[in-house]
Amino acid sequence: MAKTEQVLIVGGGFAGISAARELADDTRFNVTLLSDDADMRYYPTLYHTATGGERANSSIPLSKIFEETKNIQFEKGVATHLDRKAKTITTQEGKSLSYDTLILALGVVTNYFGIPGLAENSFSIKSQDEVARFKAHLHQQLVDDHRPDLNYVIVGAGPTGIELAGALPAYLRHIMKNHGQPSNRAIHIDLIEAAPRLLPRMPRTTSRSVRRRLKRLGVKLYLSSAVQGETADQLTINGKPMPSHTVIWTAGVTNHPFFKDNSFVIMSRGKVAVDTYMQADDNIFVLGDNANTPYSGMAQTALRDGVFVATNLKRRASGKNLKSYVAKQPITIIPAGPHWAAVVWRKVQISGWVGYLMRQAADLVGFHDLEPWPVATKQFLTEFSSQDDCEVCAAAQAN
Ligand SMILES: Cc1cc2nc3c(=O)[nH]c(=O)nc-3n(C[C@H](O)[C@H](O)[C@H](O)COP(=O)(O)OP(=O)(O)OC[C@H]3O[C@@H](n4cnc5c(N)ncnc54)[C@H](O)[C@@H]3O)c2cc1C
Repeated sequence: MAKTEQVLIVGGGFAGISAARELADDTRFNVTLLSDDADMRYYPTLYHTATGGERANSSIPLSKIFEETKNIQFEKGVATHLDRKAKTITTQEGKSLSYDTLILALGVVTNYFGIPGLAENSFSIKSQDEVARFKAHLHQQLVDDHRPDLNYVIVGAGPTGIELAGALPAYLRHIMKNHGQPSNRAIHIDLIEAAPRLLPRMPRTTSRSVRRRLKRLGVKLYLSSAVQGETADQLTINGKPMPSHTVIWTAGVTNHPFFKDNSFVIMSRGKVAVDTYMQADDNIFVLGDNANTPYSGMAQTALRDGVFVATNLKRRASGKNLKSYVAKQPITIIPAGPHWAAVVWRKVQISGWVGYLMRQAADLVGFHDLEPWPVATKQFLTEFSSQDDCEVCAAAQAN
């Protein structure tokens, strides 16, 4: 009988989970999924959790996703060292995990570009802990100052910055009402972008329509504006101070340091060089945001990568030829405020209500792929959850 192949997948995100699910219940493989988080972070809806949505709206326990699979073991830990000769991964917790085949999908990390004060003073919405810290700050500020911040400043007019800028006013109004603030009190949301236009990597017409939309929502846009530093009370932009206690940094990510630390070949965009089978080294596959492929950096690409590599492993186990990687341009849908989203897919550009429905459908289908319909649907029916850890809001909602 052929030996069972030991597949070690590092990273329980879009790519890692997609590869694991493809190998699930195939008895030729014994799969270990190593991740530093017991939940899968569903990044596309994290902005919604940050602006009043439920935690479960952007976080799915891995134990639930793999509830019914027999050949997948979950290991919680932080991968730090790769030994190519011994074929092992060592974790920060001191465990050594061996593999026949290694799949790496660790995602990216926040990059502050060395700008002084940003790491210490800004907020981020890249994890549930960061989201909880951001929300706690919004509430605490209303408790301490009895008024909103002078400026809520979002740095980075890419998809995440725009999603947040669009959703933040309604959430602030909602919690301000709970905190007894007058409904006509002004809220200043500023969106800062170093490039001369927002969504610099997208078509100009999309930039223009999102710009108009944000303006209608009252978001003030600062283009060609470089952040030079931040203190607890202000941000410096193009040499000028902007007072704020609430700066949210969405402007930069960089590849996971694991790859540099473990001597992978890094390409110009900071991504790992892979061959046509997504192999970076003998039997070491690198997927999703980590891989130097044309559309890495998007969830749909990561999902496809996982299926692609796992399917090739199955083909190899069956003695068939391996298939080559073909990059596919994903559809981009960027929500900006209530019931509105911009859609870009190849030459097609749509914006407005239709875009919003497309995005809702995409998220619902994405969620349903990972959990049952009733759970997935419930999350999309909740605009503001009662999960904010704020006594004032809890008391207001109880009345
Ligand atoms: C706020 C935000 C919003 C986004 N919105 C969209 C969107 O609307 N549409 C879209 O297509 N894309 C979006 N993206 C991008 C998309 O989420 C990524 O492209 C996708 O998550 C990449 O999948 P991945 O599997 O490569 O990495 P990830 O999904 O990031 O998964 C990496 C996994 O590795 C784990 N990990 C990290 N380090 C270690 C370690 N040392 N040891 C063990 N485990 C580790 C992490 O906990 C995580 O589970 C968004 C990203 C962000 C940050």
